[in-house]
Amino acid sequence: MVLGYFTHLDKSDWEVLDQRCRFWGIESPVNIFIPPVQLEYEEDEEDNGSKGPRKFISLRMKGHHGQDILDVDVGMLHKKDIVRNFFAQNNIVYNSLELDTVARVRLLRGKFKGVTGANVASQKVELQKAYGKDDAELCYDLATENRDILIAILDELANIVHLSFQKVCNTGPARSWANYYRNVMNIEPAENRVIPKKKKSHADKTYRGGKILPYERLKSYENVTVYDFRQLYPNTAIQNNIAPDVICCSCCKDDPTAKIVTNDRNINAKGYWTCRRRRGSYPQAVLSLTELRAHYEELQAEAVKNNDKEKEIEYGLKQQACKLFANSGYGVYGNRHFEFADVRAAELINYCLWQDKSV
Ligand SMILES: [Zn+2]
Repeated sequence: MVLGYFTHLDKSDWEVLDQRCRFWGIESPVNIFIPPVQLEYEEDEEDNGSKGPRKFISLRMKGHHGQDILDVDVGMLHKKDIVRNFFAQNNIVYNSLELDTVARVRLLRGKFKGVTGANVASQKVELQKAYGKDDAELCYDLATENRDILIAILDELANIVHLSFQKVCNTGPARSWANYYRNVMNIEPAENRVIPKKKKSHADKTYRGGKILPYERLKSYENVTVYDFRQLYPNTAIQNNIAPDVICCSCCKDDPTAKIVTNDRNINAKGYWTCRRRRGSYPQAVLSLTELRAHYEELQAEAVKNNDKEKEIEYGLKQQACKLFANSGYGVYGNRHFEFADVRAAELINYCLWQDKSV
């Protein structure tokens, strides 16, 4: 496993290393390539602007004994909602993805004092070396801190959705959910699903979510609790039976009790209904993930009884992974690149949720 911190951006460490190897005539371990067919960004649409062709990197290393080289970007892992939410649940909140910030919050120590990526090249060689080594250590410690907890959470996610660890590291919830529906639940995308429109700008959203305010500056707070509202989304989907395969089903078209009424006139005007006979895919998924979670919680409780600290931590982590994954299944409906995307599911869950005034 090769660890880096935001190594896949332009002018990344891998590219610099590659250039230096070429300059000194050393064989480069980095292979940078642009695939002949440029795929659209599968994950967040915010990113697919005028960035030019997307580059990919593969690593060559001697002495890997036939094992796959796993190129893990520790920075990208911390960017993942599922990882952010995992740490937030454990009262670890980072408000920027800078290595210094994440390291301070998770490891309680920051980057090398007085030296930055911008001024490192003008420092004495000894200092440059120390800076580079320290940076590498921070990155390694972020990956392995607390019994490899970061790696372990992604590994568990890979187990749940039946994807490889590397794939889960390099993709987001849209890929995980597509694989979960297709290969774990054996479900195909609903034929009558409504694919979200391409966003023209940030303001032109196909559907609106809760208002999320950005963090403005680094502060440390005391007596602050993280409230977990996200669980409300899966529960709303279960209560109202919302999923692409049951919205506007052919069997309940004339059943007046199948109608979904939200607090939004425009949504209600669309006259959506949901199936009264079958449970939808997302509610089914959430229920089986809840079952799996309960199973892990039982094993965790057993481990506590047997004073088995190791197993207690392992099952605690597994049950959190189930919950976090279940919570991430709502947001992907609005992502037009998600194979199972459906704007109706996204807006219905949203407006049924905000109907509850206590939220
Ligand atoms: Zn029906």
